[in-house]
Amino acid sequence: MILPELTGNENLKNQLSRLEEQNRMPHAVIIDGGNEELRLKLAEHLAMWAVCESEGEKPCSSCKGCTLAKAKSHSDIHYAEGEGKTDSYNKKEMSFIVKDAYIKPYIADRKVYILSECDRKLPVISQNIFLKTLEEPPQDVLFIMTCKTSKSLLETIRSRAMTFTLESELGYSDEHLDLAREIALGIVAKSEMDLLKATYKLDERAKALTVLDLVIQLLRDGLAVYVGSEAELDAEIAETLCRKLTKKNYLELIDITKDAQLKITQNVGLKLVSTELCAKYRRALWQR
Ligand SMILES: [Zn+2]
Repeated sequence: MILPELTGNENLKNQLSRLEEQNRMPHAVIIDGGNEELRLKLAEHLAMWAVCESEGEKPCSSCKGCTLAKAKSHSDIHYAEGEGKTDSYNKKEMSFIVKDAYIKPYIADRKVYILSECDRKLPVISQNIFLKTLEEPPQDVLFIMTCKTSKSLLETIRSRAMTFTLESELGYSDEHLDLAREIALGIVAKSEMDLLKATYKLDERAKALTVLDLVIQLLRDGLAVYVGSEAELDAEIAETLCRKLTKKNYLELIDITKDAQLKITQNVGLKLVSTELCAKYRRALWQR
């Protein structure tokens, strides 16, 4: 069974079908890319597969295991909860999970642990606790981690898990949009450091082009709000920009961004482009 939401994700669909055909399930999976809603859907699909009781195609979506999984009340599927101010999977919770993983499943063939938003919620200290279990995982366990980008996890964790990367139908991921927001806010920030740090993250060509597309969209949103219309992508950022920018600023900033995109397509070094971009943004705004 393939999730209807996975349209467009051909590589991922093939990856999943191969595993399903061979009835081979990894012990640990990282789901990144796309958006959190889609990542969770895929996580739940894999969890259902792990606890499905059907002899035929899995997940069958109708057996007791699947039904309980869908209702989020399967005793072998554990959703990590997160604790404290940062809502993170702290040392205490992670220690519980790795210990619990060695206890046999109650009714299914496998136990599943879903840890969502790991870039935000799985601190390094907990990753290190987790790592020992990933090195020698119990036979009948599936750990599923979701995050914007698997790069936010330790290399040692990544190398012990299978990564499924979702494409977004929108053509960009949460990670791209977050970075675009950071750049847009950096443009109007008092200190140049914010902007420098943000533009420095434009470290791959495709990513840089997508992020700069989004920066242009955020600037256009700001301009739209400025002239009394509505923002499409992010109303909050548009309001913030509007407090600081004039119409002339917007147009100039959009031009500067397009110019940087052109340079990226002409294979100018990314470090050079991002440094120059930062300097030009600042000059457009702060040097009168
Ligand atoms: Zn089933």
